[in-house]
Amino acid sequence: MASVIQAFRFALDPASAQDAVLRSHCGGQRYAFNWGLARVKANLDQRAAERTYGTVADGLTPSVSWSAYSLRKAWNQAKDEVAPWWAENSKEAYSSGLVNLATAPGNWADCGTGRRKGRRLGFPGFKGKRSGLSCRFTTGAFGLTDRDRRHVKLPRIGLVRTHESTRELARHVERGTARIRSASVSHRAGRWFVAFSVEITRADPAPTRPDTTVGVDLGVTSLAVLSTGETVPNPRHLESALRELRRLQRRAARRVGPDRRTRRQPSARWRNTQARIGRLHTQVANARRDGLHKLSTRLVRTYGTVVVEDLNVSGMTRNRRLARHVAGVGMAEPRRQIEYKATWSGVNVHVADRWYPSSKTCSACGVVKAKLRLSERVYHCDACDLVLDRDLNAARNLAALAQRETSSPSCGATANEPDGNPRKTRTTRATGTTTGRPAPTDAGQRRRRKATAA
Ligand SMILES: [Zn+2]
Repeated sequence: MASVIQAFRFALDPASAQDAVLRSHCGGQRYAFNWGLARVKANLDQRAAERTYGTVADGLTPSVSWSAYSLRKAWNQAKDEVAPWWAENSKEAYSSGLVNLATAPGNWADCGTGRRKGRRLGFPGFKGKRSGLSCRFTTGAFGLTDRDRRHVKLPRIGLVRTHESTRELARHVERGTARIRSASVSHRAGRWFVAFSVEITRADPAPTRPDTTVGVDLGVTSLAVLSTGETVPNPRHLESALRELRRLQRRAARRVGPDRRTRRQPSARWRNTQARIGRLHTQVANARRDGLHKLSTRLVRTYGTVVVEDLNVSGMTRNRRLARHVAGVGMAEPRRQIEYKATWSGVNVHVADRWYPSSKTCSACGVVKAKLRLSERVYHCDACDLVLDRDLNAARNLAALAQRETSSPSCGATANEPDGNPRKTRTTRATGTTTGRPAPTDAGQRRRRKATAA
């Protein structure tokens, strides 16, 4: 039994009047965010200007706090003046915008120091009309209804019909094993969603074969190859959806798109095509996520130890030939799912080091090849005449790595203890290429130097 924080997301089918109220709330959130940002920016500019006049530190205009508490306090004092319509929306709409603003400078500061992973962020900017609609509720009447399992309750908005049944979460709530902490509504690809953050007590079954180890090689031609010899195919819809995507992109190319240099506005027909492309991307992503969830659940329900590779996904998406396949199959997503599901059912996850040559090593005799092209789909060993599918060879090497690892805990793999903090991430830097060849030594350093100079 593990108590975890989990999100339950439901697609919504709001009535058109509710759609307008949802939009109004998200607009209120954006307004409060922009209001707070303008206030903080004006203060920063004022202080910078005063410094250039040579004003001493005590003589400067006092700095405005970024904390959610002080932003909210200032908003409540100013709202009658700057937003006389504020009472139309729940006060939570404005709070959620101000909370987002309060976390923004911290995220911006952290990504320069390596405390935050992923793409570098800039100083927070104003949110435009076309920025994603979202709004979060942390207090008030939200949650499921007793009436049926097809509605959710939201403050001010009332009962909104869900596109799918809320049964799974409803059963947890009725049993008393789940507590809904907050609700976020968002608009993605033409549809409203609500995501509940839920504190839930899970009772996941232990794996059926706790003493076995499986190596998972996440592939390009197939979703994954397991060291047991099983090949998990890609979702079937992917190829046909890609064909349709190419067709729509040709169509978009024939229509009048935006041009920054001439400030040409895109045509309505171009926007329609873009909307269809967006919907298609969503469909592909949904099918993919479904396939990945089925795979990761099956792995943690079956095997006691799962070994995956620490793939450099951001480096791989920069390689144009691999990019579409990687982005289409979602290389980082399976590992994320395996890791969090493993903590639920007490399964060990080993993450092989990024430079562990899983593809180049012979799984029979252990000889490491100097070079292996991506096009070589079959592994031929020069030392022991092993001929094996490239991905299966890699999967077997990964499985063997975990078995070696249990005897000496410091050789190439890091163990993720199931009782550890599931949100703890290692701060490895994304450098290097897909071929497994180490990146030029100055590449990472150059990036680091830039980061510290900024
Ligand atoms: Zn060999």
